[in-house]
Amino acid sequence: MKHTIVGNGVAGVTAAQAIRQADPDAEVHVYGAEPYPYYRRPLLWEFIAGQIEQDALFFRPSAWYAERGIALHLGSEITALDPASHHITLSDKSQVEHDSLLLATGARPFIPRSEGTEKKGVFTLRTLDDALAIKAYAQGVSTAIVIGGGLLGLETARALHTAGLEVIVVEFFPYLLPRQLDEEGARVLQALLEAQGLQIVTGATTEAVLGVPCADCIQLQDGSKITGDLILFSTGIRSEVGLAKEAGLEVNRGVIVNSHLQTSARDVFAAGDVAEFAGQVYGIIPPAIEQARVAAANMVEPGSATYTGTLPSTTLKVVGAELTTLGEGTAEGDEYTQLRHADVASGHYRKLVLRDGHVVGAILLNDPGRARAVRQLIERGVDVSAYADHLLDDDFDLESLPKTT
Ligand SMILES: Cc1cc2nc3c(=O)[nH]c(=O)nc-3n(C[C@H](O)[C@H](O)[C@H](O)COP(=O)(O)OP(=O)(O)OC[C@H]3O[C@@H](n4cnc5c(N)ncnc54)[C@H](O)[C@@H]3O)c2cc1C
Repeated sequence: MKHTIVGNGVAGVTAAQAIRQADPDAEVHVYGAEPYPYYRRPLLWEFIAGQIEQDALFFRPSAWYAERGIALHLGSEITALDPASHHITLSDKSQVEHDSLLLATGARPFIPRSEGTEKKGVFTLRTLDDALAIKAYAQGVSTAIVIGGGLLGLETARALHTAGLEVIVVEFFPYLLPRQLDEEGARVLQALLEAQGLQIVTGATTEAVLGVPCADCIQLQDGSKITGDLILFSTGIRSEVGLAKEAGLEVNRGVIVNSHLQTSARDVFAAGDVAEFAGQVYGIIPPAIEQARVAAANMVEPGSATYTGTLPSTTLKVVGAELTTLGEGTAEGDEYTQLRHADVASGHYRKLVLRDGHVVGAILLNDPGRARAVRQLIERGVDVSAYADHLLDDDFDLESLPKTT
């Protein structure tokens, strides 16, 4: 069997390894448009902050692939797929045959339509090349504006701040991390980040990037301006669906996959940020790994593994602020009960969301000891209704709850 993987990110390398383990005799080829072997994107922040060297990024150096008999094709962009004839086309127009194919092409940053985003000094962060460009530019300037107060924006802001820049975060929503936090939790987090030296402006829509010849400020919708030399947009991602679309596969926000991670073409699978499962493009690493493993199993032995979804969970670790969000932490409505404990002064926020006596979501700020137990309660669907009044108590041991419903 010849298995081909398009994309050398976490989904691609996880699948390559899983295929190799399941089928030692298979031919495994990984094509990556970037010129580097696999590196961990979260480490790009430490790299920008000046805390690690470039070499430390490479979690899977080229030798790792060679030792496992995985053929790695770097700087090798696939330009077309033909699911019917089982061929892919490379950028030099050559064609290569395969038996099964995994699309692990990930996603790219999305910049909302605004004037001046093409100017020198405007960046997005996705790849090592982006990080190298940001790092080089940051050396010649002293102020930065990060547009987008989501997880990636805040971590990038912190990295630039650690690198010595004054940083202003500009968020469109009225509070930070609108996808993960509720307003009260966001207020606690904002106070923590401000105490660390980040400036934060919320409820602000960026309309244009100004400056000649380089960007030197942004203009907001209300006409006011914020000055900054390095402007970084962290305003979401879009799945890399171009190849799939042109090949006639079913595509929505991502490439649509079923519970076998199979696309609408029989021998073409998709995993990671490019894949849309049950209406969801996760955009984070844990689902990419789970999906890649299931896809790999099914590429080796069709129908052998099933994916049922991943509990969305994120963590943000900035100095003095450790945030974990699980499941439906921001859910609102009559069917939900919300249990909250907030302490702005000490930077603590704890929230559990219950539905029908079961925990379905959580927000834990500076409460890492609780995250594992809460995750288990959610995953196992434990009925906690008898203990609801005590779940947030400091001395209540969540681990002591029954392990089943
Ligand atoms: C700075 C940063 C920090 C992050 N930190 C976290 C974190 O802490 N926790 C977390 O859960 N998530 C984090 N994420 C998100 C996480 O990195 C993504 O969810 C993850 O990388 C998705 O993996 P993937 O393999 O699907 O896609 P990607 O990592 O995007 O890899 C896809 C690869 O496919 C290649 N490719 C695309 N098209 C082609 C083509 N036509 N031919 C050949 N190759 C192609 C791309 O060049 C790319 O290298 C972070 C993201 C960034 C940018």
